[in-house]
Amino acid sequence: MVAIAHLCWMTINTNSIRALTFRVGINTLLDEKITMIIILKPEATEADANEILEKIASLGLKPLYMPGIERTVLGALGDERILRQLHLDSYPMVDEVKPVLSPYKLVSRELQAHDSIVPIADTNIGGGKFTVIAGPCSVESEQQLLGISEMIKAHGIALLRGGAFKPRTSPYSFQGLGEAGLKLLKMAKKQYGLGIVSEIIDPNDADLMYDYIDCYQIGARNMQNFRLLEAVGKTDKPVLLKRGMSATLEELLLAAEYIINSGNSQVILCERGIRTFETATRNTLDLNAVAYLKEKSHLPVFVDPSHGTGVKSLINPLSRAAVAVGADGIIVETHLNPKEALSDGHQALTADDFAQLMADIKPFVAAAGKTLC
Ligand code: PEP
Ligand code: MN
Repeated sequence: MVAIAHLCWMTINTNSIRALTFRVGINTLLDEKITMIIILKPEATEADANEILEKIASLGLKPLYMPGIERTVLGALGDERILRQLHLDSYPMVDEVKPVLSPYKLVSRELQAHDSIVPIADTNIGGGKFTVIAGPCSVESEQQLLGISEMIKAHGIALLRGGAFKPRTSPYSFQGLGEAGLKLLKMAKKQYGLGIVSEIIDPNDADLMYDYIDCYQIGARNMQNFRLLEAVGKTDKPVLLKRGMSATLEELLLAAEYIINSGNSQVILCERGIRTFETATRNTLDLNAVAYLKEKSHLPVFVDPSHGTGVKSLINPLSRAAVAVGADGIIVETHLNPKEALSDGHQALTADDFAQLMADIKPFVAAAGKTLC
């Protein structure tokens, strides 16, 4: 019996894949790798799906099982010539067989038409909710973090952000408190019941961070750190993946593909501004990206208007724009005393700014037919 894995390539029969690789030569195999999706008829049973999955696996191809509400969809990755030999469309329970043409597969709407919902701690991202993740750029002290936690909690916020490991442009800038910062995040979680989102910058920190956080954040500077993507992909914690400042949307989707291909389907994409010729703002928040990503991928999409603009007064209007364009949430930087902040104080929202932001996005979230949480 073939094991069932939701949106995960099954890892059975690696020996046959290795043998096949040897037989046809690695380059030939890679060049001709293709993904087919197999849409089953509504009346198909799990046993029907298993029969086909076993057939796919027995030929050394990678099978994928995706049960849906109305239909079950199967996937097969491998050599096109072998896939053709399977004659999948002749199975009575198969409705349609088609290739996934985009370079990214697992993140694609071609493979999964419905939106993915990604749970973080006690809350769900996506699925008709608009979620605000808030907190400081860096974790600085117990007083700082607990003060901000209390403030955001009073607005019904469920998720606290805060960097313990900071990827800074200058080696002389504050680099974060490291594990001491993670301990403070855990303290805030315990005291205020907040889920924790924090950036990982080194694949070797995945285990250390695991017990302190509820969601790994991959920052813009690490979007194409493929070992880091694989490291979080081997865990079972959600990942907030930020777009690199010079990354195309295809590159962002392929970075997400790395995480899912490593075994973890809980990925949230995040547009955080890109570098353009414009210098009036820190970055240019690409809201095209949100609409495009929602169209091409089933993954939830977030917007970071703090880094996206780098201008405090622009965070509020761009947050409203994020709701309007279809984002599933925003991640914003807050600080009770921005002048004293050890990083990004210029773009941190004060308690008053944050209260205003929450009040101002409310009607937009309602107009989008979503619930604010
Ligand atoms: C951050 O969120 O603290 C951060 C460093 O963001 P980015 O990776 O988008 O620059
Ligand atoms: Mn920051």
